[in-house]
Amino acid sequence: MAEASFVKSVCGYCGTGCGLVLEVQDNRIVKIRGDKDAPVNKGQTCVKGSFAYEYVHSSNRLHMPLIRKSGKLVETTWEEAYQFIVEKLASIRDTWGPKAISMFACARGTNESAYVTQKFMRTVIGSNNIDGCNRT
Ligand code: SF4
Repeated sequence: MAEASFVKSVCGYCGTGCGLVLEVQDNRIVKIRGDKDAPVNKGQTCVKGSFAYEYVHSSNRLHMPLIRKSGKLVETTWEEAYQFIVEKLASIRDTWGPKAISMFACARGTNESAYVTQKFMRTVIGSNNIDGCNRT
């Protein structure tokens, strides 16, 4: 078993943004504790920040995009999935306007992913209809 390493990060579960220290062993998160150097939480976390990380290594995670065809979700390529998304979003925007589109960023994504999501909505789609469960 490899020696554990410690990686600093920021919890994305809510808008508090607690500093975390992830204990990583054999490329897996095995423990999380609050970062004592983080001014927001000074080493404290709630239960979500400390324990809700099993999903990172869950076998239920999707590895391929899915598109619903004839009522069934089927695996597809990234190219087909992106083409499908582009065509649908463009069609809705052109027909109903950019405010007809909203997007929800997942708190289980990275902060970088949340940033790119809002940037995409504001600059590409032209809509401020953005939300995420991490603001609760
Ligand atoms: S979910 Fe908990 S640990 Fe995470 S940022 Fe919010 S208060 Fe901090």
